[in-house]
Amino acid sequence: MGTRVAIVKCRDYDRARVKEAIKKAFDLLGGVDLFIKKGDRVLIKPNILSGRLPEDGVCTHLEVIRQVARIVKECGALPFIGDNPGGSMTPAKAYEGSGLTSLAKGEGVELKEAKDIKVVKGIPVAGYFFECDKIINLPKMKTHSLMGLTGAVKNMFGACAGLYKAELHKRFPSPEEFARAVVDVFEIRKPSLVLMDGITGMDQAGPSAGRVRDFELLIAGQDSVAIDAVFAALIGIKPLDVFTTKEAYIRKLGEADLDNIEVSGEGISENLIDDFQLPGGPGLIRTLGPLAKFAAGFVKFGPSINERLCRKCMICRDTCPVSAITINSERSKVDLKKCIRCMCCHEVCPYKAVELKRNFLAKGFGL
Ligand code: SF4
Ligand code: SF4
Repeated sequence: MGTRVAIVKCRDYDRARVKEAIKKAFDLLGGVDLFIKKGDRVLIKPNILSGRLPEDGVCTHLEVIRQVARIVKECGALPFIGDNPGGSMTPAKAYEGSGLTSLAKGEGVELKEAKDIKVVKGIPVAGYFFECDKIINLPKMKTHSLMGLTGAVKNMFGACAGLYKAELHKRFPSPEEFARAVVDVFEIRKPSLVLMDGITGMDQAGPSAGRVRDFELLIAGQDSVAIDAVFAALIGIKPLDVFTTKEAYIRKLGEADLDNIEVSGEGISENLIDDFQLPGGPGLIRTLGPLAKFAAGFVKFGPSINERLCRKCMICRDTCPVSAITINSERSKVDLKKCIRCMCCHEVCPYKAVELKRNFLAKGFGL
């Protein structure tokens, strides 16, 4: 049997509907008991990029997290939840702002913070990623300004603790290099089960400043790479045009060939997402034709702070791996000579104040 992926429709986050849709998705995979056993300690790894509320489409929706935690309990296993947000934000702040703290309290589920760090192959990983028997990966269906898409493989990058993620951007500035770093982290502890929250998701300038879209889909499977391949197919791009999918596939960490992925539930072709717009920027270049790829070498991108929207919260300044940002009472500015175009500032700004500026060539190619 090939790699199995289940696609299930779910039109909104109504509690009963989400519960039913998740159960259906797991049943299509053969039943949750296949993956989670009685007595297992199960880490639920959502995407809690920052302290953003569910309706912003940035974080995995609380209702999805709630239902998965309940299902784990029904299996007789012990769930706990953990993630490391982007930039300089602490997990506690992101949990509080996203509503996860109160959800965890209400459900009686422990929220983990990276107090103990374990260094694996030079990468500092939150210790609790090793204190569990299984991991359930709950990515969000979104774009990413540097990587094109952020899906199941990229979601595991949240295992990295503290500001090390930003440090990796400094060491590996190009999308290809950065994808290798992301897959290095993914390889450390692969999840046993994946459920992608695409009931709402995001296109355009993701992962935090894009357009919130109702995709009305959940995608489940055991193989994070295959989940990302199906996500790519649903938006009409080739799976191997996604940097992290290609890197993980080359390393044989999962399946990206759609011919070898058995899709159950809803089909891909019937659920193609209309007008999905990738973010302008480096993440889009792989999807272009050869001529445009050549011309893209002359394309220039860079972040720019919109003074009107900036609230001087300093999060971008404290996150920037090369100290290229100045925020003071007179100005909020990026030094583009220092900037390595990692787009971390764009990702972490809670107020959508960091914009992507392009030169005329980039605009000409629709980037
Ligand atoms: S650009 Fe955004 S993150 Fe940076 S200081 Fe302004 S509001 Fe804060
Ligand atoms: S200014 Fe923004 S894009 Fe440039 S290096 Fe700093 S965080 Fe990255």
